[in-house]
Amino acid sequence: MVNIVIFGPPGSGKGTQSQKIIEKYGYTHISTGELLRKEITTGSKLGHQVKDIIGRGDLVSDNLIIDILEKEFNRLRDVPGVIFDGFPRTTQQAQELKKILNKRGTAVSVMLSLEVEQNELIKRLLARKAISGRQDDNMVVIENRLVIYADRTAPVVEFYRKAGKLSIIDGSGSVDDIFTQIDNVLQNLSKQTAQ
Ligand code: ADP
Repeated sequence: MVNIVIFGPPGSGKGTQSQKIIEKYGYTHISTGELLRKEITTGSKLGHQVKDIIGRGDLVSDNLIIDILEKEFNRLRDVPGVIFDGFPRTTQQAQELKKILNKRGTAVSVMLSLEVEQNELIKRLLARKAISGRQDDNMVVIENRLVIYADRTAPVVEFYRKAGKLSIIDGSGSVDDIFTQIDNVLQNLSKQTAQ
């Protein structure tokens, strides 16, 4: 089983590229951000718990998100691959993901780290607001999300670099240019697993 961590700051195109991977490879997408937004929309207890946190651009607690992730992962049966989008976002989450996958006899195959410069991220997120209507796509909250990304999430790259799993993707070009880079990495991965 292929396990891809798609990683990068808010606005780096993780969701868009995940869709391209799904179209070509048929992998299953687990986006913790989407799972949380669904809870808010349905008005569940969990949704109430996280609404304000997400609205401020802060991170939901590790324990809560790890629990949600593990339940979602354990629901999967016989899938060829999984794309983890928005998780792990802290080093503790990365350690827990390792354990969760380990229990199922599998491991992270690769981390695709999308790199985009800050001005471009802000431009994309503000443009996205018109379409997404997301409460956290406004200037004040975007700034907080970027600060939290730099403080708490960016260090996760080192975890995968040390494990020899890191693949850096230039996330600044067109959607198709970025996908070409990702596709090359994924094709090499399947060649390796076939050997
Ligand atoms: P983006 O990548 O655009 O910031 P996401 O959809 O991945 O957006 O996440 C939206 C929000 O959901 C985050 O700002 C955070 O509040 C919460 N969230 C999502 N995933 C996690 C996670 N793994 N740990 C903690 N909080 C999370």
